[in-house]
Amino acid sequence: MSQLEPSSSEPSLANKSPHSLQRSYRAVVIIAVCGMFSYGGYSMFHLYQNAKISQIKAQKLGAKALALSASLSEETAMNQDLNQALADKKKSLLVLNQRIDDMETVLGIEPPADNQTIEQRVDTAAINSAVRATLFQLIPNGAPTPNAQLTSGFGTRVHPITKQRKRHDGLDFAAKIGTPIYAPADAVIERARSSNYGYGNQLTLNHTMGFISSYSHMSKFNVKQGEFVKKGKLIGWTGNSGLSTGPHLHYEIRFLDKPLNPRPFVKWDIDNFEDLFKQEKNVQWASLLNTINSMVAMQVQLTGDENHDLDIATAQHTQVSKKQAED
Ligand SMILES: [Zn+2]
Repeated sequence: MSQLEPSSSEPSLANKSPHSLQRSYRAVVIIAVCGMFSYGGYSMFHLYQNAKISQIKAQKLGAKALALSASLSEETAMNQDLNQALADKKKSLLVLNQRIDDMETVLGIEPPADNQTIEQRVDTAAINSAVRATLFQLIPNGAPTPNAQLTSGFGTRVHPITKQRKRHDGLDFAAKIGTPIYAPADAVIERARSSNYGYGNQLTLNHTMGFISSYSHMSKFNVKQGEFVKKGKLIGWTGNSGLSTGPHLHYEIRFLDKPLNPRPFVKWDIDNFEDLFKQEKNVQWASLLNTINSMVAMQVQLTGDENHDLDIATAQHTQVSKKQAED
């Protein structure tokens, strides 16, 4: 027996029994099913993970959107506030501009011809013209008897009646009896004295800032002591009362009791605005202008607020403080 026979322990497939085939087949099926299951599970897990990430991303985006919308509404509100402030500013500038125009009309100044902006006018012409207008209202200016002839100046002279060398503390204007006399600035009537001696019938006007003016040899008064008058008010009429050689007005201006030459004040107007400050050295004009400037600035501010009650409130407060100070 030289030919080897296949071992009976290794049976060929053909020799396999139907039973073992069935077993193999079942094993293959089980493996396949298991594989499918594990693949499905993995896919499910993967999908779940993706969903979770998407959800977190969506939450983050939602939060971002909320924050953006909040800041947007904040900015919108800020924008509205800014627009409102801008509108208010424009309105107050318009009011200021109107006031400047009024002032310029009062003073007879032509508005600037060039295309200056409103802001520039407030800074220059506006403030200046407001200060000028206030000065011309408060400080004596112009002749108290317009068109009357100046017959005697200020300074030492020989008196026409006493023939003595004496200081003449005012100006004399020749004027026929009954010529109207007008207040050269706002004032309170400090004194209305009737007399047949010296200065005769005399009015004394107390202006602001330490200035006093007086009118002598008058025929008649049109105001009473303690009365407040505005510039241009008819205060009385010229005459020939007291020590006088003929009908005339003796006009004096004093500053802190010191007689000043009234001539620069009589000549003072908008065209020679700076002349008075150069000619009259007894007044500290720079500090006076500074004070008027502050007054005007405050007035502009008060009126700019459109709170007219403030004036009254301030006045009442001042009265109360004054009363307390007196107590
Ligand atoms: Zn005189």
